[in-house]
Amino acid sequence: MSRSKELFEKAKRLMPGGVNSPVRSFRSVGLDPLVVSRAKGSRIYDVDGRSYIDYVMSWGPLILGHAHDEVVGFIKEVAERGTTYGITCELEIMMAEKVVSAKRSVERVRFVNSGTEATMSAIRLARAYTGRKKIVKFEGCYHGHVDSLLVKAGSGVLTFGIPGTPGVPEEVVSHTIVAKYNDVEGIREIFEKYGEDIACVIVEPVVGNSGVIVPKIEFLNELRSLTKNYGSVLIFDEVITGFRLAYGGAEEYFRIDADLVCLGKIIGGGLPVGAYGGSADIMEMVAPSGPVYQAGTLSGNPLAMAAGLKTLEVLEREKPYDELAKKTSFIGNELEKIFKEKGMAVTINYIASMISVFFREPPVESFDDAVKSDTSLFAKFFSKLLDKGVYIPPSQFEAWFVSTSHTWEDIEHTVEAIRKVVRDL
Ligand SMILES: *Cc1c(COP(=O)(O)O)cnc(C)c1O
Repeated sequence: MSRSKELFEKAKRLMPGGVNSPVRSFRSVGLDPLVVSRAKGSRIYDVDGRSYIDYVMSWGPLILGHAHDEVVGFIKEVAERGTTYGITCELEIMMAEKVVSAKRSVERVRFVNSGTEATMSAIRLARAYTGRKKIVKFEGCYHGHVDSLLVKAGSGVLTFGIPGTPGVPEEVVSHTIVAKYNDVEGIREIFEKYGEDIACVIVEPVVGNSGVIVPKIEFLNELRSLTKNYGSVLIFDEVITGFRLAYGGAEEYFRIDADLVCLGKIIGGGLPVGAYGGSADIMEMVAPSGPVYQAGTLSGNPLAMAAGLKTLEVLEREKPYDELAKKTSFIGNELEKIFKEKGMAVTINYIASMISVFFREPPVESFDDAVKSDTSLFAKFFSKLLDKGVYIPPSQFEAWFVSTSHTWEDIEHTVEAIRKVVRDL
């Protein structure tokens, strides 16, 4: 028995499904997961000593790759001075300054410990600010495991076909309106009917949690103008897209400013960080400035701030976005060719450094389109690719991430591996 298998058997006796987050379990592809011993750059190593080119990148945070020297170096340096103070430190202020200067719509920011906390808090704030109850979310968008948002969600909820989840009473989701992504007419109708009661619209400006789904620009523009006209708050959940689509995230990429922005993943540089921010007008409603309560024992701790700060500094200095997009579109184009040669209809969606392959004919513009993919074919593809030393997300409904640590050699190696895998699919 491999060491991975042995350890995972033990893990299953100790933790539900052997994991601390569901999609890690590889269940949807019918395999046992890797148990990882270390990672560096574009590579992840399992406890049996095998190495893989990693396109999961811890599900998004590692835009600089694993164990980036400068990030790790700064974490070490800061750790020597204490890991948490429970009181304001200078790194928090530096990090806040970075976020405020990167995001035009953000004048004030509050750091939390995960993307889930960020979206949960943003929704609370939007409801308080508007004095309204209803919230709008889109099918296939995932905003963390917030009770009121676990309806028709993406990521693990979608991977495991969970319609909502037990443990969330109907009353809690009774104010949640679920709309269709990229459907301009649909969202107009919802606003005509409920507009005056809608506190906020929360959206992934690019969907990463049903696989990659790229927004139609008129859809995002419509969300902006409807929320403005009806006095609702537009929340961009930029937990994936922030500092990924561009340094200024989706707001910069699409030239649309939201009212509140949720951040996570990249801003933690591999440590647990989330954030929400917006105009002073809204954000000053948060305690202790205002009445909307939200707190966190470890929020803004120096270690997490150090990892995030160094990551943003490197991104600012190296401006890797064009190069990342070039590598990603190269993979996309090559995959188009490979599948075409094979005579297989697939949809390859990509933007900036996010990409995914849906095993169905194009287009995939919404959740409904994504769920019609052939997940058993995906599972086969995943498993054969893993055998060839390439690790993509173990689910049809997750994005692959290209990082600055992926060299052209890695990319070419990946394309070759895929060519071989597709040949005998
Ligand atoms: C990952 C993710 C979240 C949740 O973040 P956690 O840190 O896992 O709680 C929220 N929104 C989006 C868009 C995400 O991709």
